[in-house]
Amino acid sequence: MSEICEKCGVTAVYSKGESAARIAYFALSALQHRGQESSGIVTADDGQFFSHRGPGLVAQVYRERDLRKLVGEFAIGHNRYATSGGKHDSHMQPVLRSDDVLALAHNGNLPSVEKLKHFLKSKKIYKAGSNDSEMMADAIRYYIYHGKTIANAIKLSWPLFTGVFSCTLLTEDAIYAFRDRCGVRPLSLGKLRNGYMVASETCAFDMVGARHVRDIKPGELIKIDPKGITSWQIEKSDPKLEVFEFIYFARPDSVLGGKLVNEIRRKMGDQLAIEHPKKVDLVVPVPDSAIPAALGYAYTLGIEFDHVLIKNRYIHRTFIQPTQELRERAVQMKLNPLPEHIRGKSIVLVDDSIVRGTTTKQIVKMLRKAGAKEVHIRVSSPPVRFPDFYGIDTPDQSQLIAARHNLEDIQVHVQADSLAYLSYDGMIKAIGIDESKLCTACFTGQYPIDLMERASEVVFDHPKSSSAENAQNLYTQTTKQLQ
Ligand code: AMP
Repeated sequence: MSEICEKCGVTAVYSKGESAARIAYFALSALQHRGQESSGIVTADDGQFFSHRGPGLVAQVYRERDLRKLVGEFAIGHNRYATSGGKHDSHMQPVLRSDDVLALAHNGNLPSVEKLKHFLKSKKIYKAGSNDSEMMADAIRYYIYHGKTIANAIKLSWPLFTGVFSCTLLTEDAIYAFRDRCGVRPLSLGKLRNGYMVASETCAFDMVGARHVRDIKPGELIKIDPKGITSWQIEKSDPKLEVFEFIYFARPDSVLGGKLVNEIRRKMGDQLAIEHPKKVDLVVPVPDSAIPAALGYAYTLGIEFDHVLIKNRYIHRTFIQPTQELRERAVQMKLNPLPEHIRGKSIVLVDDSIVRGTTTKQIVKMLRKAGAKEVHIRVSSPPVRFPDFYGIDTPDQSQLIAARHNLEDIQVHVQADSLAYLSYDGMIKAIGIDESKLCTACFTGQYPIDLMERASEVVFDHPKSSSAENAQNLYTQTTKQLQ
């Protein structure tokens, strides 16, 4: 269940006299990077809901005639990302049951759903097989059916939401947005000419000509209707914005926590150059997320920067599953090297993160095959040692290469001439937000929201292999997997 609602993108629109669905559509296309498995929009008009959801990319899901049917001035939308390869079409969002009074779009994940499940069972409304987002909607709906206002229904259900949530919600005459007390996943408010919108990232506002007003506060619920905005602070805020949003997820042109993501990535590259300089012929980014960091690295050291790995921008994870053989060639399908610019050169390859180590290994192999003389890896974030339970697609801890192996082993594994990561303090300095206001769980194992029954999955002192023999075993194993 925890796999179902991963790093998604959500939006909500109220625009007087205009098609809210069209604005939501463009917002979702700006948020495409946050989820590529499925997309959905629900609108409300004259007491009725209209819904269109489907597997695949935004451009594949909606045709003109679909958008025309999505009438109304109110809309919410969702792009879904799931680790399980799009096999759960029934879990496409927004959540909307038949004869419903609300639709819900959720970004985040509730590591524990025991409390929620217990509540729904005690009220005899638990539906087997429901995911965390569906259960959240069921709890809110329960209170609405018992005469509560929407805001009160959300407020009463809130203690059951034991995890991370940045949600948008639609009723027949308003949109709502709410965020867990830590605000782990982003959520911002924008002003449209004739209304307001909410989106996971501010890049969605730029796309439709909206102005970024502010972020939805951690622990806050807002209602937007023709009368304007009403806000309630449901829970005392304890901000812990996810650092991985700055490292990898968010688009570089988004402003998160008041900071432009591109600037932060660039500073991470500057800092990486200060901490781990290497004089080489060429600095090469792993496109696209590592480009600003690689630029920072190259500029700080005065080294030439070049895009020698050309990315096919049209290859995404979609509902069309590649064959096993093609999946194993994933990196080659995405990236094509330019041997003419690589041959005989010493290279620093900058990537934003190493998770399992698969990507880095394949790229190093690719660069060597294209004639690189030396390949040095510089990573613009610290080693990822801990799994995520809050809505990121990082695998279970045993698959995180840095959870089980030390730096030397990883270097042997990826076959690099040298390997260095940005220090933890260097990362915090580059982000420029007080460490106490960030969720750094992937690096520190400090989880700001209780993991409850899942806490036992985290191992704090994984034995690190350090012998040459272990490194060689790891190398042989993964080489076999890649062949
Ligand atoms: P890996 O091959 O597992 O080491 O993945 C590392 C690569 O995936 C890096 O190039 C990152 O840019 C990218 N990446 C990092 N985090 C994620 C994530 N949660 N989902 C997909 N890709 C990611």
